[in-house]
Amino acid sequence: MSRITFDNGQLHVPDTVTIPVITGDGIGVDITPAMKAVVDAAVAASFGDAKRIDWLDVPAGEAAFNATGEWMPPATLHACREYRVSIKGPLATPVGDGHRSLNVALRQDLDLYACVRPVRWFEGVTSPVKQPEKVDMVVFRENTEDVYAGIEWPAGSPEARRLFRFLSDDLGVRQVRFPSSSAFGIKPVSRDGSRRLVRAACQYAIDHGRRSVTLVHKGNIMKFTEGGFRQWGYELAAEEFPGLVVKDVITDAFLQDTLLHPENYDVIATLNLNGDYASDQLAAMVGGVGIAPGANINYETGHAVFEATHGTAPNLAGTGQANPSSLLLSAVMMLEYLGWQASADAVMAALAACYRQGVATADIAPADGQVCSTAEFAQAIITKLNQ
Ligand code: NAD
Repeated sequence: MSRITFDNGQLHVPDTVTIPVITGDGIGVDITPAMKAVVDAAVAASFGDAKRIDWLDVPAGEAAFNATGEWMPPATLHACREYRVSIKGPLATPVGDGHRSLNVALRQDLDLYACVRPVRWFEGVTSPVKQPEKVDMVVFRENTEDVYAGIEWPAGSPEARRLFRFLSDDLGVRQVRFPSSSAFGIKPVSRDGSRRLVRAACQYAIDHGRRSVTLVHKGNIMKFTEGGFRQWGYELAAEEFPGLVVKDVITDAFLQDTLLHPENYDVIATLNLNGDYASDQLAAMVGGVGIAPGANINYETGHAVFEATHGTAPNLAGTGQANPSSLLLSAVMMLEYLGWQASADAVMAALAACYRQGVATADIAPADGQVCSTAEFAQAIITKLNQ
């Protein structure tokens, strides 16, 4: 077992590196083996025997619950912490009752404050917009705060009643329309949390020669939380990145304007909930969540969990038709993060060549293209890698 170490802001990656992998629920059983096979082939093609990934399968989600009675076994969290860089398939989260999001638990446990989601179009991929080639953005979504912090109480609970009494009696709050039937959630947004996220976005823009960073917020309505994010973001950028173009836009205008003028946007820094909505919309513009990758990163500790943007796709589970590209492109981000750029470039080139020739899974294949199953698509990429 070879571990990654981290000191002075630098990741040190051994030539044989252990990467914990969570297969995931639903379509995870199809897309995760496909991703592993392509990545192994790319590493072999670019480094021969000199480098290798030792995949360490760790349980989470339904498989873990059935085997151990726990949705996220402590040993899995421990492995992700110890080995520093891991990758996961989607995990189901019930709406309303049931366990809390395992994805959110992982992000909070490892303090993975930056959710990084690049969105770009590949030639040959079916898109609902006229000029998808104009979409080339990288979303930095704050990952640990906001209404996603999980601080909420159900309507009618003793906690909700107590919170209402505090709001009403101590703070003079009069805006709660239906106190006895109100559920309550808390939206923490901090200066520290906003600054480290905006710092990561600005540093990425500098490192990758990007044109601008746009702060996306609803500070016109939520003046202290989202307005604070905007203000702290501008302050941080002025202090630490004086030459960088930083602008801001209100979230609803952003969602409209990215459809009308996507070329106006480059690196995006935003809060947790806005980032969730925005990244799905942007993904749809370039072919859907099936090809939208993501990474959850703490740049101060080096911890990172790479994951597909989409969920478990219950309608596709068991059909073998899911698109593995989102998880595969997340693995490309992982290879770049490890510094194995040649393997990352090899996967990108092979994937792009498949798309260009109309070889794809059903969700994005052009009408005259070659529709593949998950496994066939992975094999088509591996064939291109070895040509
Ligand atoms: P979803 O992303 O699973 O599915 C939305 C739509 O996208 C569906 O039509 C689906 O078929 C399609 N889709 C998703 N992935 C695809 C792929 N790889 N190839 C082709 N089509 C794909 O979202 P949902 O249905 O709202 O959520 C299902 C479950 O996934 C829920 O339990 C939710 O909590 C969970 N979820 C998990 C994550 C995660 O693990 N990070 C993210 C989002 C949702």
